[in-house]
Amino acid sequence: MNYSKKITEAVAEEFAAKRYEWDSLKKQRLKEVYSLCPEIKEIDIALSDVGLKIARATLMGKVGLSERIESIKNDNLKLQKRRGELLCSLGFDEGYTDPPHSCEKCADTGYVGVKLCSCYREALIKKAYECSGLGNLLFSQSFENFSLDSLEGEDRERMEQYYSSLVKYADEFSVKTAASLLMVGGTGLGKTHLSSAVAKRIIDRGFDVVYENAQNIFFDFERDRFSDRFSGEEPVSFKYLDCDLLIIDDLGSEMISSFSVSCLYNLINSRLNKGLPIIVSTNFTSEALRKKYDDRITSRLFGEFTILLFTGKDQRRKKLSKK
Ligand SMILES: [Zn+2]
Repeated sequence: MNYSKKITEAVAEEFAAKRYEWDSLKKQRLKEVYSLCPEIKEIDIALSDVGLKIARATLMGKVGLSERIESIKNDNLKLQKRRGELLCSLGFDEGYTDPPHSCEKCADTGYVGVKLCSCYREALIKKAYECSGLGNLLFSQSFENFSLDSLEGEDRERMEQYYSSLVKYADEFSVKTAASLLMVGGTGLGKTHLSSAVAKRIIDRGFDVVYENAQNIFFDFERDRFSDRFSGEEPVSFKYLDCDLLIIDDLGSEMISSFSVSCLYNLINSRLNKGLPIIVSTNFTSEALRKKYDDRITSRLFGEFTILLFTGKDQRRKKLSKK
């Protein structure tokens, strides 16, 4: 698992809060029970002395040791039984002072031995979904529900190829080897669907993915430029520079200014220089992009990205016209 510090810290805090809550509840229940029945408190004190009793029994020598240990065990069992009976007589169940954890496997520590518990892994993935910017797209647009039905001929063949290449891309994704992709084509041809599907699968595999439309990315950079540098908070735009995979949706639809152009250049340049992949999707044709941005940007986009051309009829429009 390779999630960002923001994600791992948030989940660590979430688990610490769960343990704190559990601990408080246990203390509160013990206090309640002790005040109703002081004998239970005495039993708990006696039970907590077991380690000491075993140490004493061991120090007395090997002769008769197993009998002494056996007798300690029996005493313990009797005390536990008595404790259970007292709790029941008060109207509680036997486990009242030992409330359940949200995960019994790891007692909300996040670890089973030295291995990450499945609950912790799930919490990390959930947090990574939340931080990815994909929102509901993660649940509505997956590889499983991508349909090629509305495509025909060459368009369909090409899309079948892209589909299997993108599944492979997501399944084999590694920061060091993944290519940057440029998805070019009109609206409703599946660019957003497939990039969300790639994102979901990569997040599930433990990578940190950020998905955002171009306009919002530039907005975040602009906001950081004017924000208080001494506030101690990490600038919002850092995630675009550092995540394992950045997906820029709808490039070209943003307001073009000298700031957005230099920002885009720096973002692409910085990520490519660090070997961090980017997926860019755009409704603009290659020619239109060349007109919109300067050579520094287009030469990187067309020189270093693998280009996927999405062609065919707008699937959303086609669906509507069938009604
Ligand atoms: Zn667990």
